[in-house]
Amino acid sequence: MAADVEVKNEPLDFIREIVTEDLRNNKNDGKVVTRFPPEPNGYLHIGHAKAICLDFGVAAEYGGICNLRMDDTNPTKEDTEYVDSIVNDVRWLGFEPAALYYASDYFDKMYDCAVELIKRGKAYICTLSNEEWDEYRGDLSKPGKESPGRLRSIEENLDLFTRMRAGEFEDGSMVLRAKIDMASPNINMRDPVIYRIRRVEHFRHGNKYCIYPMYDFAHPLEDAFEGVTHSFCTLEFEIHRPLYDWVLEALDYPHRPRQIEFSRLNLTNTVMSKRKLLQLVKENHVSGWDDPRMPTICGLRRRGVPAAAIRKMCKAVGVTKFDGITSMALLEHCIREELNSTASRYMAVLDPLKVTITNFPEEGVEPLDAVNNPEDPAAGSRKISFGKTLWIDKADFMLEPPKGYFRLAPGAEVRLRYGYFIRCVDVVKDASGEVIEVKCTFDPETRGGNAPDGRKVKGTIHWVNAEDCIEAEIRLYDRLFTVEQPGADGVDFLTQLNPDSIKSVNAVMEKSLDALKVGEVVQFERVGYFACDQDSTAERKVFNRTVTLKDSWAKKK
Ligand code: ATP
Ligand code: MG
Repeated sequence: MAADVEVKNEPLDFIREIVTEDLRNNKNDGKVVTRFPPEPNGYLHIGHAKAICLDFGVAAEYGGICNLRMDDTNPTKEDTEYVDSIVNDVRWLGFEPAALYYASDYFDKMYDCAVELIKRGKAYICTLSNEEWDEYRGDLSKPGKESPGRLRSIEENLDLFTRMRAGEFEDGSMVLRAKIDMASPNINMRDPVIYRIRRVEHFRHGNKYCIYPMYDFAHPLEDAFEGVTHSFCTLEFEIHRPLYDWVLEALDYPHRPRQIEFSRLNLTNTVMSKRKLLQLVKENHVSGWDDPRMPTICGLRRRGVPAAAIRKMCKAVGVTKFDGITSMALLEHCIREELNSTASRYMAVLDPLKVTITNFPEEGVEPLDAVNNPEDPAAGSRKISFGKTLWIDKADFMLEPPKGYFRLAPGAEVRLRYGYFIRCVDVVKDASGEVIEVKCTFDPETRGGNAPDGRKVKGTIHWVNAEDCIEAEIRLYDRLFTVEQPGADGVDFLTQLNPDSIKSVNAVMEKSLDALKVGEVVQFERVGYFACDQDSTAERKVFNRTVTLKDSWAKKK
């Protein structure tokens, strides 16, 4: 279990208050069983992470268990590809399910429950046409009309339902409905459909079934079969709760899970619905579900976001009943906090400018010591090399610097990180007048970054040795959408895609980065955090910028 999910001594959120109270009353014999029930019709996104942290977190904190259940009762859009990615992502987030279940494995038991409802006179076959259906349903101001099916005998209902399952009737020709209350102000309670005919192949059961249960009937049963005690879901299910309770009550089911709703996680400048994410993938607006700009777990992982940062953000957001929108800056803040303590430092130059050290010998390199992570002494140090020709970042040199510019400029002295003081003595320009090379002298007495005469320089810049550096592609990412809430106010979210959300640059970096493995995340000093991407080859590495170093969130607080 993830180490940072404990909440001791912190005020409890409303869900943990409920669970605490239930345990105090020895409800469910003092057991806590939760579940995370994704539909395997897409990849998990960071919104799911919030649910995962809650489901698994509560179970762990209260000595209970949490299962992972594939909610695969709607065969059309489901697939094993999604199942595999979900299992992988949950584990990667730091949680180990007590068991992996498939709701579809309960189809026979669910069928038996439907038969039981019919026998109890609480469900009936309805053959209203689509047009009639609209007319019978009523609306918020008008009660619905009772379907003639309500008058069918139990025997006839049993016969029709059996034949429905046997495949005697066409898709859409009839449904099984719960007999509840056509006048209920809650439309979900107006004799909802609980089974329908659908000749669609199921990814696990093939064509074994031609009838499928509806979510509102299936979900309470799934929870009950598994002995779930607390069933957490998002707020939109609040109006479905009376039906959830009705199903188990109508069956006199001995175990009664309790559904509790909490607000969804929404993040600025991205979309979170699987339908929209799928559209981004299918229409090639992104390179795939794991495109580093996607809010999916696999996209974030590829981007270099540590699982601990995602857990930290979910904890910071908390669990409430109020819908809100969380700033992407909070996620970035959590990423920086995490990577600051874990990522090794290296030097890389994204926009290189040549520097020649005129008083360094023509041949050879000089090894220098560089600290791997100032936040973590155990990370040790490594060797970097100094030489005659270096690369620095263009932004670290100015021909005519404004006041307060402490980096390199004609006549000025600057400290090379882990190296020496260098002073600019001359520049070389191209035909257009642009500086293409800076000539400097270095002071051999300042090795390691201090002058024995106590002379101070204010600026320290990063650099790499041109002699032995490596070249790599760096992918710089920006927000996927230009607006905070894409798709709001009826605007087509695709028109709000940021055309500049990805930019690729050629960078030079220290040689030791050659040994980096795909997935490893490092800090390029003064630049940001970068993850080694799976597109890397033996010849050429590819890096994703996870996040820059600047933290606008920390300042806001
Ligand atoms: P989407 O609307 O993106 O398709 P979904 O709710 O249909 O998502 P499921 O696979 O059914 O996706 O979700 C599994 C669980 O994750 C559910 O309990 C759901 O409430 C929860 N969940 C989904 N999105 C969020 C979110 N943005 N914030 C918190 N929990 C979420
Ligand atoms: Mg859903």
